[in-house]
Amino acid sequence: MATHQEKKLAERRKHQSMQNDTEASQGQWGRAWEVDWFSLASILFLLMFAPLIVYYFIMSCAQYQCSLTDPFLDLLTGNKHLSDIWNSTPMLTYRAAGIYSLWVAFQVVLYVFIPDFCHKFLPGYVGGVQAGAVTPAGVVNKYEINGLQAWIITHVLWFANASCFHFFSPTIIFDNWIHLLWCANILGYAVSTFAMIKGYFFPTNAKDCKFTGNFFYDYMMGIEFNPRIGEWFDFKLFFNGRPGIVAWTLINLSFAAKQQELYGEVTNSMVLVNVLQGIYVLDFFWNEAWYLKTIDICHDHFGWYLGWGDCVWLPYLYTLQGLYLVYHPVQMCTAHAVGVLMLGLLGYYIFRMTNHQKDLFRRTNGNCSIWGKKPEYIECSYTSADGTKYYSKLMTSGFWGWARHFNYTGDLMGSLAYCLACGFEHVLPYFYIVYMTILLTHRCIRDEHRCSSKYGKDWKRYAAAVPYRLLPGIF
Ligand code: NDP
Repeated sequence: MATHQEKKLAERRKHQSMQNDTEASQGQWGRAWEVDWFSLASILFLLMFAPLIVYYFIMSCAQYQCSLTDPFLDLLTGNKHLSDIWNSTPMLTYRAAGIYSLWVAFQVVLYVFIPDFCHKFLPGYVGGVQAGAVTPAGVVNKYEINGLQAWIITHVLWFANASCFHFFSPTIIFDNWIHLLWCANILGYAVSTFAMIKGYFFPTNAKDCKFTGNFFYDYMMGIEFNPRIGEWFDFKLFFNGRPGIVAWTLINLSFAAKQQELYGEVTNSMVLVNVLQGIYVLDFFWNEAWYLKTIDICHDHFGWYLGWGDCVWLPYLYTLQGLYLVYHPVQMCTAHAVGVLMLGLLGYYIFRMTNHQKDLFRRTNGNCSIWGKKPEYIECSYTSADGTKYYSKLMTSGFWGWARHFNYTGDLMGSLAYCLACGFEHVLPYFYIVYMTILLTHRCIRDEHRCSSKYGKDWKRYAAAVPYRLLPGIF
């Protein structure tokens, strides 16, 4: 098996180096073929510590009122042993396993069996069957875009249950939060392992697979570009959007319900976190077709990074503010609340408009108006692995003339707003802005590396025309 893969790899490399000779640095784009020591070290670190980080955060809320330092201090001073903390941790239960299995199965049914009807009556919404971007092997995949519909159905049922049927309490997610963590981990590891085996033995598109020869790197970053079961079950679209992102707003609602149960009221900070994150989630589903053109779908292969990340990291760490507010209900003064709301809305506006400008520009091939003017751009070209040459454009006006990733800047402003809603008593809710800053700065560098390989000297011209990445004049 290994020799067969190595032969295939050598052939592909030869093919690509021929292209690179003729097309300067163009022709080889997408994920790395070789693993440098820094990437390997980072991957090993994440594989070993990311699950522990999630556990530590959730445990510190459950056992230490969200203090990140107290567990350490207890261990250092001998007040407690690791086994005490572990023994106080709720374990997997049949009830949690049942809830989680039902949840995932329900999302699969909504994704696979109910074709989109929202695009038939919602003006401006793009749903139904849509084409993705060209993959490095030159394939264009089709996707059933029905995430908004799944989100609406799920939330209508949630509210119907909370207000009429009362089959289960709306605090159900909070009440089973740690039990469900084990289920999410089981799914996350199972799907990543399955994706790896599938990549070796029955890939959906062999030409879009990458083998670095390093087991850990391949497991983490994925082998297959777009693994699918059948024609329509796309792993990346499903796991990225649902169950993680559909769950995001439900989790926040469950935390709000818990606040109501414990304190008899829902604080304005909890309302703001629910509203601002709700806007972000709805935006994601409203623009799901656009999402097909983002880095997650166009560049990342499907491995543990996406599989486990979508099942565990996203639902558990993106919702830390709501969780924190259950333990520390913060009632902000009006000025604080208005400030948080303004920052959140401004960040969202920049994030959305920047993404919209690029989408409009690319869809119309530059024949559109950005801030009342025809957009300025740089013509560029690239070559796919089958040798086909494509032409593209990089916009240098609108927000894309201010910085090369101003959409990330807007995202970071919104992220900071969620954290600021939690006040200044603990650092735990600020984990999100720290994480997003690292994620998006790293993503920015990763994307630029990829674009530079893809567009060669054209990218250099673009970087000279728009010299800053995130903050004009600073970075
Ligand atoms: P972008 O939407 O910025 O896409 C980058 C790609 O856009 C590049 O690879 C290039 O692709 C193209 N491009 C770059 N510059 C230009 C230009 N000047 N004109 C036209 N096209 C250009 O990045 P992402 O996919 O990472 O992010 C999408 C959104 O999702 C962002 O707003 C980000 O903040 C958000 N996000 C949120 C995350 C979260 O966890 N909350 C995680 C990741 C992203 P091509 O090859 O087509 O030229």
